[in-house]
Amino acid sequence: MKVTNIVAQDIRFPTSKENLGTDAVHVDCDYSATYVTIETEDNNLTGIGLTFTIGKGNDLCCKSIDYFKEFIIGKEITEIERNILLIWEKITNHSQLRWVGPQKGVTHLAAAAFFNAIWDLISKYHKKPLWQYIVDLETDDLLNKLSFSYLDDVITRDEAANIINNNKKKLPKDTTSLNSTIFPAYTTAVGWLGYSDDKMSKLAKENLDKGWTHFKMKVGQDIERDIHRCKLIRSIIGNDKKLMVDSNQIWSVNETIEYIGKLKEFDIMFYEEPTNPDDILGFKKIKNAHPDVKLATGEMMQNAVMFKQFIENKSLDYCQIDSCRIASINEILPVLLIASKFNIPVIPHAGGVGLCEYVQHLNIINKFIITNNDLSLSEYAESCSEHFENPAIIKDGGYTTPILPGYSVKIKDKSIKQFDFNNGTYWN
Ligand SMILES: [Mg+2]
Repeated sequence: MKVTNIVAQDIRFPTSKENLGTDAVHVDCDYSATYVTIETEDNNLTGIGLTFTIGKGNDLCCKSIDYFKEFIIGKEITEIERNILLIWEKITNHSQLRWVGPQKGVTHLAAAAFFNAIWDLISKYHKKPLWQYIVDLETDDLLNKLSFSYLDDVITRDEAANIINNNKKKLPKDTTSLNSTIFPAYTTAVGWLGYSDDKMSKLAKENLDKGWTHFKMKVGQDIERDIHRCKLIRSIIGNDKKLMVDSNQIWSVNETIEYIGKLKEFDIMFYEEPTNPDDILGFKKIKNAHPDVKLATGEMMQNAVMFKQFIENKSLDYCQIDSCRIASINEILPVLLIASKFNIPVIPHAGGVGLCEYVQHLNIINKFIITNNDLSLSEYAESCSEHFENPAIIKDGGYTTPILPGYSVKIKDKSIKQFDFNNGTYWN
């Protein structure tokens, strides 16, 4: 079964109209996807993948996909499966394209979409949901598909194999039974920065009634307003529920140290992306100033080498892997393995377009074959789920486990016809 064609579509949803996704630095997000379809000789078998962006620049990711096509068009799916790491290295370390990366920025986001589509294709070919395809692979077979380049000073392949093999001893014979897992989640839906007090109060009450126990809100406007908003949310959810805050990189290191002091009274579980996401030493300074405070980051961490440094340097407490920022399973699993080695809990970033659909697979993979940490928690924000054929389903405050083959991000045809930025009815 050969790959015959690859199409990249620039899909944009006009979410800025409702202030959805607004935070301290992203004030007008149009939730978007670079949407990749890998066609095969079988009309009923396609690989679908995406990366998430927030509007302008989505076209650049789509354009980058053109450069990747030659590496798989005309190839057998089994050959792509066997050589996926080689293909990954050719693309993420391309002799010319690497000058506009390497392994960061537009080309890396595009690589995420491309490899997410390949993993979707392979797991559909094997008629398994992606998580189960991965969990069922022989350990050596799995490790042969992952990139450990530049990571061997922190984790060796043997250490990775031991982590997986030890976890696999606890697996049931038939891994299908894992599909009854409900993976605990927290909601980000109540406190976008552009929301009025009334809207926030209403959403907080609604989400409390739905059974949510962990809430995250945006901060970073001005500190007096942040304090007011924290007070408001705490007055509704009470003191027994968990509250997290996210300032989306807007503060300097010194501002973070000052403002964390002012927000401590609200018993914040973690402070997310307080400052520049590349500032490994700055995060450490914040932790040194507030040893009792927990920091979370990862959604804008551009590659596994950054995660390696943050984790080894103890600059973060919670690892927020992003399914579309770094280049798919080949790079994400090595990061999860490093987090496991250092016993750092992983709380994946989600929301946006398709991220919830992706992390529901990553959570299961991490829980059952990688981590030994007790904390199970994952972000959830019900954004754009109405556009997916099989959106992530929440039950009892947690993700249900997907059972259909593939990696779960097929967007409805009618949504594509409407929101394709180049020729959709909405934009023209
Ligand atoms: Mg965030």
